Amino acid sequence: GAHTPPIITRYPPSPTGSLHIGNIRTLLFNYLYTRKHGGEIHLRFEDTDRARSAKEHEAWALETLAALGLDFDHGPVRQSERTERYSAALRKLIDADAAYIAEESAGEPGARVVRFRNPNTQVTFHDIIRGDITIDTTDFGDFVIARSETNPLYHLSVVVDDMDMGVTHVIRGEDHITSTPRQLLLIDALGGRAPTYAHLPLIVGEDKKKLGKRHGAVTYREFRDLGYLPEAIVNYLALLGWNPGDDREYFTKDELVAEFSLERVNNSPAMFSYEKLASINKLHLDALSEEAYEQQLRAFLGEDNVLVAHPRFGDVVRLVLRERLRVFGEVNDILKKGECDWLITTPTYDAAELSWKDTPKEKTKEHLAHVHSVLTDIDMREWSVEAITHAVMPYAQECGKGEVLWPLRFAVSGTKKSPDLFTICALIGKDETLARVQHALKIL
Ligand code: GLU
Repeated sequence: GAHTPPIITRYPPSPTGSLHIGNIRTLLFNYLYTRKHGGEIHLRFEDTDRARSAKEHEAWALETLAALGLDFDHGPVRQSERTERYSAALRKLIDADAAYIAEESAGEPGARVVRFRNPNTQVTFHDIIRGDITIDTTDFGDFVIARSETNPLYHLSVVVDDMDMGVTHVIRGEDHITSTPRQLLLIDALGGRAPTYAHLPLIVGEDKKKLGKRHGAVTYREFRDLGYLPEAIVNYLALLGWNPGDDREYFTKDELVAEFSLERVNNSPAMFSYEKLASINKLHLDALSEEAYEQQLRAFLGEDNVLVAHPRFGDVVRLVLRERLRVFGEVNDILKKGECDWLITTPTYDAAELSWKDTPKEKTKEHLAHVHSVLTDIDMREWSVEAITHAVMPYAQECGKGEVLWPLRFAVSGTKKSPDLFTICALIGKDETLARVQHALKIL
């Protein structure tokens, strides 16, 4: 049968900073495209800017790729370890008079650079996302491709790497569109084969400006610390530029691999919405089993967290947190606002707050005394939301829900804004519930 050459792509991060959401989206699209077509991915660190490159950024890039499940087949290699290849290419270009050594006009006196002899032509290339693009290269002049024979610059090292690695598809951000004609001229001069290009749309914030730190989290580390799930990040990033052709939003990574196509990538800027990311995160939280949810939230919060340390943590997750959280980090807001204080500390409040509207104190006392007695009658082993509801509700319905439930809520939680009252009683336990009601009776 017909033999189609394998697709070969690359992850080319520059380890000059942390990968931000735009870089990660680019890596993801390379991943999805390559995996879909059974191709191979090369990871290379583009560290020709020695001064700004750092090993810690490489380590973080590797960690980000691993956390998001964006695996690769070759590498990592570093451009700083491939100097010999770039020197050979420079010699070849200089020998063919396609490049020349020149005085660096702006630099220190005597400093030299290698310039590419620009044929000043119009370069046309096909972009899978944007169609044919024609750029007049005259404006680029005889652009600099190396500071010295052993110090190549970006365009040269990328071209040499892509040729050596047999890269068939260059999928990168649209900020590199003007790099492409320069790189095509170099490939041509080196006798290489041009890859196919796809330039991905820019990611912007809701203000239509390029997404940056001031919009919010932009690195994987920041999103992780806010409690986003890796699978939700992958899902949401896939939707930044790509769409499945219908209104589905929830995708696993495998589903994305199966459905992805570069033809379905837009060329207009993709707007990043933190709200949308949170709602997609919630869909992925919903997909977790009870055990996985509890275990992941526990790992996120850490063993020292007051909720994790609580003996009823599992029930707190199941009864209170699970429906409320879109993102694990929201637990911290709940704690900060004191919305779980009833679980951790004995509530404080004024006796006056215990009575519903203008219910006389004596009446409130009577209601609480009754509630205390029906709760006392519940067998310790039967203590549950259902049993408590069953014991208290008939009386509350008879005497007025406000008059009965308001004081009970204040007695057990110290606030009018709390999760479901009976859930609170169930979670703090029978002894603690009775003690809190007793205390309310005492101060009334
Ligand atoms: N290191 C470049 C970057 O991070 C790669 C550009 C390319 O894909 O050629 O922007």
